[in-house]
Amino acid sequence: MSILNDFTDDVLQGMQEAHTYRTIRLLESPEASHVQIAAGAQNASDTVKSTLLLASNSYLDLCNEPSLKKAAADAVLKWGTGSGGARLTTGNKTPHEELESALANFKGEEAAITFGTGYMANVGVISALCSKQVYERQDENGIPSKIISECIVFSDELNHASIIDGIRLSKAKCIVYKHNDMADLQRVISEARAAQPYEKVATRLLIVTDAVFSMDGDLANLPKLQKIAKENNCLLMIDEAHATGVIGKTGRGLAEHFNDMGIPCEHADVTVGTLSKAIGCEGGFVVGKQKLIDFLRNKARSFIFTTAMSPAMAQAAANNLKFIENHPERVLQLQENVKIFWDALQKAGTIPDSNQSAIAPQSAIIPIIIGDEAAALRASAELLEKGILIPAIRYPTVAKGQARLRASLMATHTKEELQDAATAIAAVLTRPH
Ligand SMILES: *Cc1c(COP(=O)(O)O)cnc(C)c1O
Repeated sequence: MSILNDFTDDVLQGMQEAHTYRTIRLLESPEASHVQIAAGAQNASDTVKSTLLLASNSYLDLCNEPSLKKAAADAVLKWGTGSGGARLTTGNKTPHEELESALANFKGEEAAITFGTGYMANVGVISALCSKQVYERQDENGIPSKIISECIVFSDELNHASIIDGIRLSKAKCIVYKHNDMADLQRVISEARAAQPYEKVATRLLIVTDAVFSMDGDLANLPKLQKIAKENNCLLMIDEAHATGVIGKTGRGLAEHFNDMGIPCEHADVTVGTLSKAIGCEGGFVVGKQKLIDFLRNKARSFIFTTAMSPAMAQAAANNLKFIENHPERVLQLQENVKIFWDALQKAGTIPDSNQSAIAPQSAIIPIIIGDEAAALRASAELLEKGILIPAIRYPTVAKGQARLRASLMATHTKEELQDAATAIAAVLTRPH
């Protein structure tokens, strides 16, 4: 045995014993409301069959939209297969700049910058904004002095891994607050401010949160976060990966959602998003003030030291974004589907979340909390046999004893499909084992 084999075997065996070892499922069709799962992934007796997909991030079903696929193919014919360079060398092509102005426009912001993925956007923006900066500044007598500016980050305990990795890379001090608990956030900020005379050492403070939490589907309290940020001189960053194209009546995201409800709400200082979920392509982005975007172009290492996304992909993302702007009914249909599915789950006797059964879901992610890890896995496997793919999420992705089925909906699911799925879920969950 080699050193490498010994090491990997030890680690993987440990994961197998802890039931956290992962394998990946093979789909033999494009991402859409129905997919073909490779034989052998289900029962050995099954051949490839059509499965209802209640597990996709392609919320608006744009990955497989015929007119958009055609437009993307045309973009490859026009722009080729790759970008050939980093954005700062030769990679920057017309579609990249058009996409960035379209994103800024869609989000109602001054400017935008795109990254290879949403993961790279978070890692790039947080490491750039939060790492220690040393620079010189002249006082009123023209005498230069050295400024050391450090950052403290306040991070929701359920934030996405890419946010956590960005903070780690920045080496900034990170204080985690209880999930969506604004009193706890205020408490940790006050403690941090009391602990050091932060104005004198030029400490920056950043609050960072998912807009829609990926395993619970609940929303960050943007109005309250803004109030706390303002009162405590903090910057506020939100990650709208599951909000763009989903939340707000035209899919503009969290600020639109609260404004729709009559709660005045501005944009965060920094808004991150992905092109890979509702937009149905690949890539990540940051929108905000022009100065922020200029700063990121110069400081975000995951923007600088990597090849630009292919111009055809940038063109495809711009096309898909335009589709969302021109088809607000697609966003409304997704939101309608959430209501239909929720009602059907309740009618079928499945209480979707034992802790908050009265609160209707606010995003297209609907967790059905089961608790026991093995029971959640069993329910998911039984549903797959019935032709419904709805994954079981368990520790370590969520806390122990909080295992769940995690449904995510698409705008193109039909009412009948959603009602039948709810009935099937209820049947699997209520059957004694
Ligand atoms: C999916 C996701 C990301 C990463 O986006 P990719 O484009 O898939 O890399 C970042 N943040 C959150 C909250 C996400 O859900």
